Amino acid sequence: MALLVQKYGGTSVGSIERIQHVASKIMLAKSQGHDVVVVVSAMSGETDRLIRLAEALSTEPTPREYDMLVSTGEQVTMSLLAIALANHNCRARSYTGPQAGIITDNVHTKARIIEVKTETIRRDLAEGYVVVVAGFQGVNSQGDVTTLGRGGSDTTAVALAAALKADECQIYTDVDGVYTTDPRMIPEAQLLPQISFEEMLEMSSLGAKVLQMRSVELANKHNTPLRVLSTFNDGTGTLVTFEDKVMQRRLVSGIAFSREEAIISMTGVPNRAGIEGHILGLVSDAHIEIDMIAQNATDKDHTDFTFTVQRQDAPKTLKLIEAIASDLGAVAVKSNDKVAKLSLVGIGMRSHTGVASTMFKALGRVNINIQMITTSEIKISVIINEDCLEKGVRAVHEAFELHKSAAERHLAFMET
Ligand code: ASP
Ligand code: MG
Repeated sequence: MALLVQKYGGTSVGSIERIQHVASKIMLAKSQGHDVVVVVSAMSGETDRLIRLAEALSTEPTPREYDMLVSTGEQVTMSLLAIALANHNCRARSYTGPQAGIITDNVHTKARIIEVKTETIRRDLAEGYVVVVAGFQGVNSQGDVTTLGRGGSDTTAVALAAALKADECQIYTDVDGVYTTDPRMIPEAQLLPQISFEEMLEMSSLGAKVLQMRSVELANKHNTPLRVLSTFNDGTGTLVTFEDKVMQRRLVSGIAFSREEAIISMTGVPNRAGIEGHILGLVSDAHIEIDMIAQNATDKDHTDFTFTVQRQDAPKTLKLIEAIASDLGAVAVKSNDKVAKLSLVGIGMRSHTGVASTMFKALGRVNINIQMITTSEIKISVIINEDCLEKGVRAVHEAFELHKSAAERHLAFMET
């Protein structure tokens, strides 16, 4: 018998039939003797609909009222699910985030959970109830409802699983798990049976949208095993967990990508101490987040300074950089918002050499020009033209034989 926290995403509860289906899955777990705490998202499309309503009234809805509004989506699903369960004689109680004891800071629309008070949930579990909690929301010190940012129900689930010391946090969704890359782009992509927290963090931050980043950070911090699996198909999905020997032996785990990138560069910047801090300080004062940075001196007195930002921030950044460039007497400002980031991720990189050269050769063979490179211990990212992205992902996927199952690749490695 285990204590499970199960989270069902928007498509999993997107209709009355689907809510019935979710109810039957919960009852199955109950009948196997498990204690179950369920976290639900709003029905698919509902949060977007609510946001559009607010935006129809105001370009900048008051954050407190925005949270009051968008938190209602999850309340609809939690109560419907509890009604469906009760109708099958499965005792269930639903709670809003505030009622369930999810305490957050005061940052409306993207609050962080600071504490989970579990007494109510523990009491109900002890009495045999299935506890259904509205995801994505909590309460601040003033007693106001807060929300946790888009995709925040994942974080509610992990926070509850950590606080309750659940055996597993199961994230039920509309995909079968985490793949070596997006199977909609590369149909040969393979389901990963396991991935480490660290790799999953990189994959989430690099554009793989299966889990909210913060939920992975939290699971890593509390060592909460997290499983991503399908509501609709059978299968054991992907277990996100701490590293083990098998994972370490794997050379690379997956390829993440993002099309939302733009590259901006200033050439002929007078080179003096502190210039980089000066430029980036002005950019961050404008609340623009910079991702990659490259700088190289072109002669004794000048340097080129290049960086990437999210594509949506590009126009604003460009304006700012043009002003900075004329202040500094830089030669030119260039930008390209038709670029994409392709990243290869794997903890095996720490202990294997030649990963970067294999990746760069694969891109070279299909004539892809790399515009920028960054690396970390477990990741290599490159910026390339957006229209080459699919070709690039395919080439790298093939070069590392990611179309082979994890077991096959593991064998191949042991043989060599
Ligand atoms: N309903 C919220 C959203 O659409 C939270 C979630 O589903 O995780 O972002
Ligand atoms: Mg989600």
